[in-house]
Amino acid sequence: MDPIQKSKDDWKKELDAETYHITREAGTEAPFTGKYHATHDKGMYKCSNCGLELFSSDAKFDSGTGWPSFTDPTNKERVELKEDMNHGMSRVEVLCKRCGAHLGHVFDDGPGPSCKRFCINSASLKLEKENAKK
Ligand code: FE
Repeated sequence: MDPIQKSKDDWKKELDAETYHITREAGTEAPFTGKYHATHDKGMYKCSNCGLELFSSDAKFDSGTGWPSFTDPTNKERVELKEDMNHGMSRVEVLCKRCGAHLGHVFDDGPGPSCKRFCINSASLKLEKENAKK
């Protein structure tokens, strides 16, 4: 998997303003406002910036937080985890391994065997529904 490197200007041209802010400036969408927090459709959630397949709908669960939440990425090699000490908290940031897009954060209170809760911004994702696949 070769990394995708583009300038800020290039990303700015490709992405809408909200997506740019969240994925390229580590922003956070307000809870319950994103397009996927209550979605139960089957399919694959891809990186909204580069299209890398990141999270399967099979790993999605209702966390009650207002953000799409997953127990695991579809492949651990596709996400990068990074310590984040911003905003007076110690958290683990989740980024797309291929293009560096900010996805969200991961916490250790998930319901599955991994105990992980990947708390991801809708704006960082693009759902390819299963029945839409050709
Ligand atoms: Fe990406």
